[in-house]
Amino acid sequence: MPRPVFRHLALPTQAPYVDRTPPEARATRRRLRACHECDWLMALPPLHSGEQAVCPRCGHAEVRRHRYPAQRSLALAIAALTSLAVAAAFPFLAFSVRGVGNRIDLTQTASELLGHQAPLVAIVVLMTILVLPTLYLLAVAWLQLGLLRGTPLPASRSAARALAHLAPWMMADVFLIGTLVSLIKIAGLAQIDLGPGFWAFGIFAILLVATTQSVDRDWLWFALAGEPPAPEGSQTGRPAAPQGLTGCHTCGLVGRLDAHGHGQCQRCGEPLHARRPYSLQRTWALLAAAAILYVPANVYPIMTTISLGRPSPNTIVGGIVELIDMGSWPVALVILVASVIVPIGKLLALAWLCLVAPRAHSLKAPARTRLYRITEFIGRWSMVDIFVVAILVALIRAGNLMAVEPGPAAVAFGGVVVLTMLAAMAFDPRLIWEDSSPTADEEPLHDRHAP
Ligand SMILES: [Zn+2]
Ligand SMILES: [Zn+2]
Repeated sequence: MPRPVFRHLALPTQAPYVDRTPPEARATRRRLRACHECDWLMALPPLHSGEQAVCPRCGHAEVRRHRYPAQRSLALAIAALTSLAVAAAFPFLAFSVRGVGNRIDLTQTASELLGHQAPLVAIVVLMTILVLPTLYLLAVAWLQLGLLRGTPLPASRSAARALAHLAPWMMADVFLIGTLVSLIKIAGLAQIDLGPGFWAFGIFAILLVATTQSVDRDWLWFALAGEPPAPEGSQTGRPAAPQGLTGCHTCGLVGRLDAHGHGQCQRCGEPLHARRPYSLQRTWALLAAAAILYVPANVYPIMTTISLGRPSPNTIVGGIVELIDMGSWPVALVILVASVIVPIGKLLALAWLCLVAPRAHSLKAPARTRLYRITEFIGRWSMVDIFVVAILVALIRAGNLMAVEPGPAAVAFGGVVVLTMLAAMAFDPRLIWEDSSPTADEEPLHDRHAP
């Protein structure tokens, strides 16, 4: 049993010394949390490593406790950065057809798009697979190194805040699937060689996911800045907003709001709101923009294959039909789901949630929350087709024999994916529960769940 260290509790800002025992071993007061998805106010139970605390009303996982959180995240982040460096330094893929061939590095999947007048798509590829993951991993390593030393390094709080904002935009895993789809698409046409960079990138994608999973936000913020006591008079087992309280989306701390429903987190400094400001209006606006862009994304070709000087443009749906003709059913299915079913499903699901949000209903709220979670989770996987274009444009260059050009639909479709992701972020799932009264079986959180 670790010895409780009480002197942290009076340190809402700068902790001069940070130990590595879990928060529950050190906190003497109940640590309150307001669920991000349903606004239920609850007290965190003591957690052992491998356990998670879930919201008793909607089932959202509030905290996941890991063994050795700092060492674990630091080791994974360093391993991921190393594999990314290897992936960028060595050849990624090589292709040859009738003796004419081309070899590419990872970074060329973005830089070749610049040469083909698709700078926006190039920026999206560069940011989502290289720049943002690198920043994220450096921030994790920086934070955990400071905590392991015993004194947080400078700017640790900004780094910890950045983690929450960067995480949804890292897409190395989606890019890996995009690479596999590209390889299957051209497997019959040409000889493909997987370079060391490809294997290193595969390892990087897995390690990046493992790193994001390893970050124990609750532990991290407690270790960085202690935990100020919960506002006076907070009552668990009730929604937070009617009590003038809200949970910080970045560090989880419960804070009091002013009369207008605004405030600032006293631990991490993020702005606090009872509900995301203009949530429904912003979601509608982003959905409308995405729906408009979805038209050119399907009407124009997403890429043009030039074979012996003959261009054959392919729309998204045309590409799927071609894959079916080639007999690649599984890949056709992946693209159909990622490029057609997911974006349309997401537009419809979010529009429906916006429509029903003003008529919140306690019995329907759990199902609506599940739908919201699915739309939020699957949105980024639509980027597969964009990555396929980026890889094929860079890789397929064999003089007059064969080449691939990005089409105007690539920009439009990339816009659809980004806008629907922003729309899901703008939607406040707490609206789904707004007017629902607690039912008899809802009790304050005291259950533990092992994963
Ligand atoms: Zn909840
Ligand atoms: Zn905060």
